Amino acid sequence: SRSRPYNFSAGPAAIPEEVLQEAAAEMLDWHGCGMSVMEMSHRGPQFESIIAQAEADLRELLRISDDYAVLFMQGGAIAENAIVPLNLSGGAKADYVVTGSWSQKSQLEARKYCDVHISASAHDEQGYGSIPDNAAWSIRPDAQYLHVCTNETIDGVEFHFVPDSHGVPLVADMSSHLLSRQIDVSRYACIYGGAQKNIGPAGLTLVIIRRDMLGHALPHCPSAFDYAVVAANHSMFNTPPTYAIYIAGLVLQWIKRQRFEGLSGLAAVEARNIAKAHLLYDALDASQLYETRVGRECRSRMNVPFHLRESALNAAFLQGAESAGLLQLKGHKSVGGMRASIYNAMPLEGVQALVDYLKDFEKHHG
Ligand code: PMP
Repeated sequence: SRSRPYNFSAGPAAIPEEVLQEAAAEMLDWHGCGMSVMEMSHRGPQFESIIAQAEADLRELLRISDDYAVLFMQGGAIAENAIVPLNLSGGAKADYVVTGSWSQKSQLEARKYCDVHISASAHDEQGYGSIPDNAAWSIRPDAQYLHVCTNETIDGVEFHFVPDSHGVPLVADMSSHLLSRQIDVSRYACIYGGAQKNIGPAGLTLVIIRRDMLGHALPHCPSAFDYAVVAANHSMFNTPPTYAIYIAGLVLQWIKRQRFEGLSGLAAVEARNIAKAHLLYDALDASQLYETRVGRECRSRMNVPFHLRESALNAAFLQGAESAGLLQLKGHKSVGGMRASIYNAMPLEGVQALVDYLKDFEKHHG
């Protein structure tokens, strides 16, 4: 039996219940030091150990080599839309691939700081729902970087391959699928993401950056957003979001403990996410009432937007879902319809409960 409803929020999103319980148990007194993590100096030995463990666990889970710095920042991925060009464009050329609402926002913001070129764009009358053929992207050889969003949270478009950037440093917004699957960090010059989907609470931004990319910030880049400054100060140039880092650390430990079909850690989490996505997409594909608009080859394992063919049923669908203990299924306002976000913390049983509800609702309204 479960104590709480299943939460399909796109973010801030569900946190593993085990982690919430651990945090609750340690709320008043962390490991016998007499303080809550919220109350301790970021420069004290207790917090030093928390952030060092979190970084070590992140490096282990994603196999991040010493050639890369791990930065714990603030401002979210929307701030990174400016921070990336401020640090990496040199005020010169930067190329962007637009596969959804978030990469579209990224390229618009970058125009304040550099010469932006759209290497490829996937927008059509239906909105977003595909990734243009990588071989046909127009990448300027003298671009300082090529930016992609590898999981479009709103549109449900995920890269299931690492793009070939023809030697141009690859920068990726991985906000909504970082730590949902294994990745080859060495293929990227910079990876960033807000924590509030698979990693922890809002307020923490993770940046994983190859060290040779550091030290090229524009002179007017705020010091607190200069990757080289943040790296040199081990994410303590300013006060980092200490409590969010602590929770993220508990989530990383939780990921390391996961087991699924003989696998462990991130491999287990990835296999379970594949199983969850199959279960849900198969049910949607089999139905006459629901439809998905994203191409099969780039369907997101994390964010599953779908529409009721009869939109007049939307309100009844959402109300029934809530009564069945299935929360926050309403789609993003820009695309309408529904969206089920099934991040790491969503168990297989939660997706099964959603599939059961989809079938039941169709039986009564189809
Ligand atoms: N990029 C992606 C892929 C996202 O999912 C989000 C948040 N939904 C953002 C950027 C923006 O994140 P934030 O509001 O935390 O800056």
